[in-house]
Amino acid sequence: MKLFDAAYLKLTGWYVLILMVISLAFSGWVYNTARHELEFGLDRFVQVGPFIDPQSGQLRTIVQDRLADSRRRLIVRLASFNLIVLALGAAGSYWLARRTLRPVEEAVEAQRRFTADASHELRTPLAAMKAEIEVGLRDRALTKDAAIELLHSNLEEVDRLGNLAEDLLTLTQTEQAVTLTPVSLEAVAAKVAKRLQPLAKAKKITIKKDLTRLKVQGDEPALDKIISILLDNAIKYSQGGTEVLVRTYKKDGRACLEVQDRGIGIKASELPHIFDRFYRADSSRSKTHVTGHGLGLSIAYKLAENLGAKLTAASTPGKGSTFTLMLAQA
Ligand code: ADP
Repeated sequence: MKLFDAAYLKLTGWYVLILMVISLAFSGWVYNTARHELEFGLDRFVQVGPFIDPQSGQLRTIVQDRLADSRRRLIVRLASFNLIVLALGAAGSYWLARRTLRPVEEAVEAQRRFTADASHELRTPLAAMKAEIEVGLRDRALTKDAAIELLHSNLEEVDRLGNLAEDLLTLTQTEQAVTLTPVSLEAVAAKVAKRLQPLAKAKKITIKKDLTRLKVQGDEPALDKIISILLDNAIKYSQGGTEVLVRTYKKDGRACLEVQDRGIGIKASELPHIFDRFYRADSSRSKTHVTGHGLGLSIAYKLAENLGAKLTAASTPGKGSTFTLMLAQA
């Protein structure tokens, strides 16, 4: 990504600059200390001069030459050292810059993908509405019944858009932290089951309940939303005349809520993706024509994560699916 190439180079530049400032300061200190020590050594050597007095003048020149030579060699070594630090530092800094910016790049990429997917989901119903309206307007012999049908169809698309907008809003709200309080899990499950009863009835699906009293550490609106999504899906992806079971129970010291259906099921290859944003299994797109945007389970998963809970799915195609929410007891 172009934006990040420039950022990598900029960050690498800063890292190298900091490294070179430290390295040069260190080299300066080494040079000064070494020079000081050498000059100090020379002074002491000259002070013991009386033993070698006749040649002391000549000796001083020789020692001073050696000293100048040592200084030059020290400078060359320090310069080489700094060049090595620069080369290794530049490579290391680039690697470090990539590591530092990788999470940011991934977050930006996820955001970009999300925006692209959301735009795509918005465009589809809008395009359908536009096409229907244009055909209707071009039809000079449009009857009142045909116009009403067209309006009904448009209303469906408007509903779809409304649901999508609501889901997108909920998804952004899942980013906010929640305060956990003790909640009666079975009470929330019973409330949701009652609310979705008409939906199930319309499809001749029976909602069965097996609810054990359980207090969990949670947030009622979030739990309500998670259970609603799971139960709504169980109804959506089940054939008429089947049963959906909502169960609460204790397991390994944790509180569990299970929504089990005898519906179309999910293929093993698709199961790992169902919690991804905008993911819809092939069967739900083509065979069943069930409406949805593939956001429900990603919302449920994020909400569960916020509650410190775990949401898992198990399924057998053609036999049904079981979604389990595992929470800490209060
Ligand atoms: P939506 O239902 O709007 O498509 P979800 O995020 O709720 O989106 O679900 C993602 C996909 O997971 C669905 O499209 C469907 O393919 C699959 N799925 C979810 N729940 C069930 C279920 N109970 N039975 C079968 N498939 C399901």
